[in-house]
Amino acid sequence: MSEMTRNIRGARPQVMGVVIGMGVFHLACLAAFYTGVSTVALITAVTLYICRGMGVTVGFHRLLAHRSFKTSRFIQFMLALAGSLAVQGGPLWWVAHHRAHHAETDSEADIHSPVTHGMWQAHMGWMMTDEAFNEKGSNSRDLHKFPEIKFLQRNYIWILVGQMLAIFAFGAVLNVLYPQLGTSGLQMLVWGFFISTVFTWHVTFMVNSVCHRWGAQPYETGDASTNNVLVGVLAFGEGWHNNHHFYPNSARHGLRWWQLDVSWMLIRSLMFLGLVTDAKLPKELREKA
Ligand SMILES: [Zn+2]
Ligand SMILES: [Zn+2]
Repeated sequence: MSEMTRNIRGARPQVMGVVIGMGVFHLACLAAFYTGVSTVALITAVTLYICRGMGVTVGFHRLLAHRSFKTSRFIQFMLALAGSLAVQGGPLWWVAHHRAHHAETDSEADIHSPVTHGMWQAHMGWMMTDEAFNEKGSNSRDLHKFPEIKFLQRNYIWILVGQMLAIFAFGAVLNVLYPQLGTSGLQMLVWGFFISTVFTWHVTFMVNSVCHRWGAQPYETGDASTNNVLVGVLAFGEGWHNNHHFYPNSARHGLRWWQLDVSWMLIRSLMFLGLVTDAKLPKELREKA
């Protein structure tokens, strides 16, 4: 019996939810052959990929998991809300797993390490195991002081359902008001929600799989983390993952001028507007500045 079959057999409801949910999401993308595509649906898909992806990278990862900069409760909530819309679990669950990854990188206890568990489990199989839903909440308990973050965690499913309805309604309304745009509720749902979400998933998952296997390792981190150009660009800077394991609390992951880090550009813009302060940076960059 393969590890995957064993995991699915004795599975908790959450594991079954992930297996069925991920299957349905991937299959739903194929409905694009039925709905066709329009410019407005494509623009919506890309916009949501950028907004929700940055919700994960800037909100869930750099702010909530690593506290790498300071901001107001309102901006923190908006970033965490954008992350919660990316269908990658609620913020407390996401943060708990991510901190566990930093604490146990590439050991047996690191459930999404390609070194100890193989590429499939590192990429997405880990969410289909019981361990993914074992209580790791103590890793994110410091965030319990924010009731609005707990609210996002508790109401994760409703936020998801609301998002689907809103995207469908957006397409349906455009269809009525501007039929020349050639969209519909279903087409908007397929592109703006399913395709955009599945694409964002695989980009995020590549940080765990690809960026612990293929790429450069300028820093001696004692793990398999790498800097990978493709993931660096697609994942808004998160692919400079060897840099990140060496300087986990840095708000900036792309440390060389050519290491494009769009998440850092957003943080810098928010700093410029006075909405973010105290961004943590590695000593080597502070000395240069
Ligand atoms: Zn890592
Ligand atoms: Zn991290």
